[in-house]
Amino acid sequence: SDEALRNTEKLAVAGRLAATMAHEVNNPLEALGNLLFLVENSSSIDEARSFAQLATQELGRISEIVQQTLRFHRAPAKPDLTDLGELVTSAVALFRGKMLERHISEHVQARRTLAYCSAGEIRQALVNLIGNAIDAMPNGGQLFVRITQVTQRGAHYARITVADTGSGIRKEIRKNLFTQFFTTKGSRGTGLGLWLTRDIVHRNRGRLRYRSRTTSPSGTAFSIYLPSTAPLDLVQSPNLHTIDQRRVVGGD
Ligand code: ADP
Repeated sequence: SDEALRNTEKLAVAGRLAATMAHEVNNPLEALGNLLFLVENSSSIDEARSFAQLATQELGRISEIVQQTLRFHRAPAKPDLTDLGELVTSAVALFRGKMLERHISEHVQARRTLAYCSAGEIRQALVNLIGNAIDAMPNGGQLFVRITQVTQRGAHYARITVADTGSGIRKEIRKNLFTQFFTTKGSRGTGLGLWLTRDIVHRNRGRLRYRSRTTSPSGTAFSIYLPSTAPLDLVQSPNLHTIDQRRVVGGD
């Protein structure tokens, strides 16, 4: 019935909401735990105060994530003409502290580029990809984020690529990458990032592809392809299917 269908949809949304929050809140929550531990064990009031200040910042991040998640799930996927340059810039900024800490240099090309998508969702997808890239470089490296315009068989796309010089993705785990809860990060991972990211990209009529190599020079590049013209033009384009069927994994 209609109502059963509506309830199923509500459950799907609730599940996605929970999954998003669990994934995004995990890192700052862990940081908060560490900082509180340090506060408890600090040797001076000054030291305790500086840890407490950092803890307050992490708390602010958690609250921001929760608010943003709620906002974007209340008004789901309203696509709009969006400047991807701005999205990239704001997503990268979230990780600046972590990158400094890890000696990761950033190379960002984020010129103003318009695409038709839901800004909140694509930003979330970018945050997931950048977070993974940084996780793959525990001992430093380079993060590249760039936007390029590509035309494939007559259809126009804005492509956002997030690339790292990390260890790469081993062949054995590639088939599981987009599976819910698949993670190689133990209790630090949720295995929800790529699953969510692909879902978000598809909901925005885009495609997600990646290339990765584990031999030197190793690294991984994920690309989000978004229609850079109005959606109606795309629906009428026969080329979309061709792109859909192309091999996703390259490299090695
Ligand atoms: P999580 O980050 O919580 O593990 P994801 O779904 O985002 O969940 O990623 C699943 C797995 O894919 C990761 O645990 C990791 O093994 C692999 N992965 C994703 N992105 C990269 C990357 N840029 N470099 C190397 N491995 C990656």
